[in-house]
Amino acid sequence: MVTAFMSLSDQLLASGRKLLMNNYGRAPIVMSRGEGCVLWDVDDRRYLDMTAGIAVCILGHGHQGLAQAISEQAARLHHTSNLYFIEAQIRLAEALAKRAFAGKMFFCNSGTEANEAALKLARRYQAVVRGKPQRIELISFENSFHGRTMGALSVTGQAKYRQGFGPMVGDVRFIPFGDAEAARTAISERTCAVIAEPIQAEGGINLPPPGYLQELRRLCSERGALLIFDEIQTGVGRTGTFYAFEREAMVPDIVTLAKGLAGGVPMGAMLASDEVERAFEPGTHASTFGGNPLASAAALYIQQAIDEQNLLGQCKEAGAYLGQALSRLAERRRPKTRGTRGRGLLQGLVLDGDAAVVVQKARDRGLLLSVAGGQVVRFAPPLVVAKDEIDEAVAILDEALVES
Ligand code: PLP
Repeated sequence: MVTAFMSLSDQLLASGRKLLMNNYGRAPIVMSRGEGCVLWDVDDRRYLDMTAGIAVCILGHGHQGLAQAISEQAARLHHTSNLYFIEAQIRLAEALAKRAFAGKMFFCNSGTEANEAALKLARRYQAVVRGKPQRIELISFENSFHGRTMGALSVTGQAKYRQGFGPMVGDVRFIPFGDAEAARTAISERTCAVIAEPIQAEGGINLPPPGYLQELRRLCSERGALLIFDEIQTGVGRTGTFYAFEREAMVPDIVTLAKGLAGGVPMGAMLASDEVERAFEPGTHASTFGGNPLASAAALYIQQAIDEQNLLGQCKEAGAYLGQALSRLAERRRPKTRGTRGRGLLQGLVLDGDAAVVVQKARDRGLLLSVAGGQVVRFAPPLVVAKDEIDEAVAILDEALVES
């Protein structure tokens, strides 16, 4: 029952619990506004945000330049569909083509849709362009995460996400991530494509050994399979380079992006080499909203901000600072902690137990973090995070660890 004595949070939570589906394990907080790395809830409680809306808001919250780019576009033209060419989408494609992977682009509205498009393109390339419809097997990795639609879920290597939704889309094989020998054994003339996150994010911030991505590239090229990199969480500068795969001198056939791409306006993208893209013709794949003027204007602003504000350099520097601070914390709090791992501003503190308990205690103290892979406390703050904000976050996390 809603009464006049309830706080605004409590009133909204009561209504939300009644009306919204129970598919999220949400914290009982209703956010109202933000600025940079700080959020305030509807009752004006302050939170230091080291999650950026799950690695999305790379310019932080309440960014006036981004808001202006969105509102100017909204006032002029916000949606037309892809029945016509869209100026902001073309400008965005021009900007993305200057990064480490050119080729052709398809825009959609989320990460899972970008992966869905990638899987469809790969199947159709093998069937129609190469005339090998029998090459349907998809190879993915244990502990991977690629999204929630049936196709993306079918290549997600964590049983907990698939439970109760079977049967999955067929012919998927999961192999251990980072194990080159397993890849050498698995990739064959039946393989349509290999789909990998260059760093497994949701699965626990798992980095492969140096040279592993290059070895996947070599095996795929040798055996006629396509290589898809899911850069949905690691891309758009999150690890200090625009794409995480840039650390190893190679390119995939297909790459997917979402999350930071439009800084918080829903958008995904699939980029494919000119050779592979030939598999799509008018009518083979589509999205009503994909790359609409509004999302494209936001993403174009993000592309410009990355260069003008040197966000890649800032990410490397702040990421190194955060990584060192977390390493010192891990040393100090052993045996509760086991170490750290990450790159750029995707960093994790590995615990000896359940990370959710520590994340909740930090939240109670006004610090927002998330869990990756059960035992890892994940930091994925806005790329504009300042050193004093990192200091504040690590100090609060320390208190939360001591208390748990
Ligand atoms: N792929 C990766 C690597 C992700 O981290 C995520 C989301 O966390 C997805 C795909 C799914 O993206 P979305 O939630 O936008 O559908």
